[in-house]
Amino acid sequence: MLKIQRRVTPSVQIGSVLMGAAHPIVIQSMTNTPTADVSATVAQILELAAAGSELVRITVNDFDAMAAVPEIVERLADSGCSIPLVGDFHFNGHILLTRYPKAAAALGKYRINPGNVGKGSGREDNFADMIRVANEFGKPVRIGVNWGSLDQDLFTDLMDANARLSDPKSFKDVVYDAMVLSAVRNAELAQSLGLGKDRLVMSTKMSEVQDMIQVYQMLAAKTDCVLHLGLTEAGGGIKGVASSSAALAVLLQQGIGDTIRISLTPEPGVSRDVEVKTCRSLLQSMGFRYFMPSVTSCPGCGRTNSDKFVHLAKDVTEYIEKKMPEWRARYVGVEKVTVAVMGCVVNGPGESKYADIGISLPGSSEKPAIPVFQDGKLFKTLRGDDVKDQFITMLDRYIENRFSTQI
Ligand code: SF4
Repeated sequence: MLKIQRRVTPSVQIGSVLMGAAHPIVIQSMTNTPTADVSATVAQILELAAAGSELVRITVNDFDAMAAVPEIVERLADSGCSIPLVGDFHFNGHILLTRYPKAAAALGKYRINPGNVGKGSGREDNFADMIRVANEFGKPVRIGVNWGSLDQDLFTDLMDANARLSDPKSFKDVVYDAMVLSAVRNAELAQSLGLGKDRLVMSTKMSEVQDMIQVYQMLAAKTDCVLHLGLTEAGGGIKGVASSSAALAVLLQQGIGDTIRISLTPEPGVSRDVEVKTCRSLLQSMGFRYFMPSVTSCPGCGRTNSDKFVHLAKDVTEYIEKKMPEWRARYVGVEKVTVAVMGCVVNGPGESKYADIGISLPGSSEKPAIPVFQDGKLFKTLRGDDVKDQFITMLDRYIENRFSTQI
């Protein structure tokens, strides 16, 4: 049973999505299509939503992008998708939001980067314009500070003040201070302009794991607002997944974070929904949320007889993914089922007994008998060449029998 106490926060509602301490941690993603290309953007949003994204952020960088927003929302609705869209504004958000009220109303939330709102005397006016529109349409706002676009006026002031200290802080410590101060000051400014905490989300994204952990811990100590977590510019592939998971896991374990995005540089030809699947996998592996039965499988070693069990683990995982839409609709709680697919007698029976249903393939020099365990007990011993089909049939029956009373 998960015992992590999340930070107490207000609830923030974005369309039908609720975030905050009283709600599950929300998964977000972001498109990389030109927003003005309505067809491509709609297609990618649908793909991200199908993978489990609960909010999707879109770039709103010019007039064409802003003008496209209402049509994007309409086409999504025509496809039966009501996922809220977050408009990502930099430099000209005040102009776009005030000139395109229909688009401002169609978006579910606005992301404002305090480092990209403007400079000097115009800065506060631009910021106030965006908050005024958010208030007019009752939209939540994320004050999204990013290390790569930190408010340079604020940072310079802090660096100058630091230089005058008898014992100056390190450069990094001043960066952390500036990140947190930028988020807190702008959140206070938004509140002074009438934006309640029930419409306020904050983030302070950095690109190094330890920096991100440090700065979010500092931010969490300064505010009770809902926090959006993300390691920015995390990179791609294994590096991106590992570093994002490391950073987010530490903070989530400390109860910090109400919504997450894992920003991965896409691999050529690979769907962008990997970032959503990674978020799901992270939350499920930590026990925060459950999305589908999990498959425990060993890495295999010199004891493994062949790569038969590797294929079996893959086939069983893919089968579960394929069946989930049907199972989810029919069986409440099916996502918490655990399955084990193991390679030999060393850990195979133990893991298989611990899972709800598990199979332990014979390693080299073991007899060709394949025990299947259900609910901790030996259920059957399989033999023959069609083990995969036999086990998948048993998995189907196990799910059906366990949940059939719900039908
Ligand atoms: S269960 Fe057996 S095959 Fe799998 S890693 Fe352990 S010793 Fe190797």
